[in-house]
Amino acid sequence: MVRRMAKPLKAGGEIDSWCTKCKLVLNHRIIAMVGSVPARVECSTCSSHHNYRARAPGEKAPAASARGSRASASTSALSSSGPRSSRSPAAKVQQAALDREKAWEKAIAGKAVRDFRPYRVSERFSEGELIQHSKFGEGVVTRLIEGNKLEILFKDDTRVLAHCLTM
Ligand SMILES: [Zn+2]
Repeated sequence: MVRRMAKPLKAGGEIDSWCTKCKLVLNHRIIAMVGSVPARVECSTCSSHHNYRARAPGEKAPAASARGSRASASTSALSSSGPRSSRSPAAKVQQAALDREKAWEKAIAGKAVRDFRPYRVSERFSEGELIQHSKFGEGVVTRLIEGNKLEILFKDDTRVLAHCLTM
């Protein structure tokens, strides 16, 4: 899993946190910080306020997911680190934001209002579906994630929200 390390954390910013109500790790808005650590967060899916928690209770920090790829020893050492850019992190973040906005514009280009389904946590969405979110605006579902989660591309960011939940 790729973590977005580039954005400095601050109140009003966003972070993935365990939601005590949704019982999932989802996109949250930071309400309060203690030093450089988020203390209170608001769930972007259910709007509940609770303490920040990076992952599910009892879950260990994610291990490197190198397991499973049984590449031969000769190639694995070379391919394990992936491509490395020499550009500064800030430039990379900027480029990623531009790419994301372009992808978003392409996804919603020429679509009518009726093509967008209002986002509701209780409903089921599928990959590629266009959604209208009350807070984040128009988005497109880019990925279905195990455990009732959706990755949605919005104009300003990619967010993980829940679906098919009964509250
Ligand atoms: Zn929630």
